[in-house]
Amino acid sequence: MTSAPSCSPGSPVAARTDSPQVSAHRGTILHFLSDPGDSAAAGSYELIEDGLLVVANGRIDAVGPAQALLPTLPAGIPVIEHGDSLLMPGFIDTHIHYVQTDVIASGGRQLLDWLEDYTFPEERRFADAAHAASVAEFFLDELLRNGTTTALVFCSVHETSVNAFFEVAERRGVRMIAGKVLMDRNCPPDLRDTPETGERASRELIERWHGRARLHYAITPRFAPTSSDEQLQGAGRLARAFPDVFIQSHLAENHAEIKWVGELFPEARSYLDVYDRAGLVRDRSVFAHCIHLNSTDRTRMAHAHAAASFCPTSNLYLGSGLFDIAATDAAGLRFALGTDVGGGTSFSMLRTLADGYKVAQMGLQRLSPLRAFYLATLGGARALKLDDRIGRFARGTEADFVVLDLRATPLVARRIEQSRTLEEKLLVLMTLGDERVVAQTYVMGQATRHAVDAGALGGASANRAQSLHRSHAVSPQRHP
Ligand SMILES: [Zn+2]
Repeated sequence: MTSAPSCSPGSPVAARTDSPQVSAHRGTILHFLSDPGDSAAAGSYELIEDGLLVVANGRIDAVGPAQALLPTLPAGIPVIEHGDSLLMPGFIDTHIHYVQTDVIASGGRQLLDWLEDYTFPEERRFADAAHAASVAEFFLDELLRNGTTTALVFCSVHETSVNAFFEVAERRGVRMIAGKVLMDRNCPPDLRDTPETGERASRELIERWHGRARLHYAITPRFAPTSSDEQLQGAGRLARAFPDVFIQSHLAENHAEIKWVGELFPEARSYLDVYDRAGLVRDRSVFAHCIHLNSTDRTRMAHAHAAASFCPTSNLYLGSGLFDIAATDAAGLRFALGTDVGGGTSFSMLRTLADGYKVAQMGLQRLSPLRAFYLATLGGARALKLDDRIGRFARGTEADFVVLDLRATPLVARRIEQSRTLEEKLLVLMTLGDERVVAQTYVMGQATRHAVDAGALGGASANRAQSLHRSHAVSPQRHP
């Protein structure tokens, strides 16, 4: 991205020399410092065209211009050359269902029919631990292939589905948030828990998994129609007992759903109010969709420090409606992006950004490419209140990052070649890109994609991926 405008890279931080597990990655580095908004506010991002990312023991140790940092590296430290590929923090998906992996691209129905016809029958299979573990493996492979290193994940009503997911995630060392779905009514009888069993199982899962390795628990009422008021009150008790646990649910996705919530909870002021009265709207609450909200609800969510997850591929596929970015911003409500697989149609955050851009266009609004990539990285981390650990490059943050190949396909290469500014290039990547653009995904500094996977990319990308993996020792110059 040699022609892109660059903001100041800041002062490079010297790499420590006392760590036994140090590596360095050289390429174009882009990460965000704040929300660029629509106008690419100066200072909202850092672009280092020939940059170096130094990783020590799984964490970022230094970031800065390669010319400044290379001489500070001790002899023998491997420097992985990524050419002009773009190094960015790993993508963060703020809403996805691992148990719906096998119903992606099914249906063509609206939300309530889709749940009945496809989702519930599929989720029944997660009572089986072996099935749950095998889907969890595939799901995490797919996330990493797409550059997603952290996700907020729905499991099924079965504890086995949560245990299987966390066991696989722990083994892979990824930062993941997940929870057991609570649902005690308006779903098939064999998929129901009760207020008592749901609360007890959630508590046990929190005690077992929350804070273990890089894992966090999320209290997960599916959505208001499938939980009795008693169950929601129990979820609220858990939320008060465990204030740093996450909460995830769905909110105001579809008109038929909203009408149904009004009938089920006639005493509530609104759909949001059903959750609010149970104490579920707070810090670390993330509600998917939030399409058909009024300004009172948006403002209430903002004041409570809750966040919305904008899931454009799902909203388009299920015909749910268009998320209102301008109204969300006007209320000061924080939002980030979610794929919502399996209602959503892709695991790729790039494709999700592309559809987000189109949803904004349909509402005569704008999702600038810079803001889109902010939302997929630091914005996601902020929505989850994990930005002290992930979503940006700073000394001490976790080295979860992606390598984006600007020549992944002939068309991407051709359009990148003709793009002048950083914004133009990012728009090409998000509009034409998918997992083919993700040359490598690193988790805590470790490459997650195998050579065979890179080989499957074919042609120039495969050659490129191989060259990326060939690290070499740099002979450090002594201090200038
Ligand atoms: Zn969902």
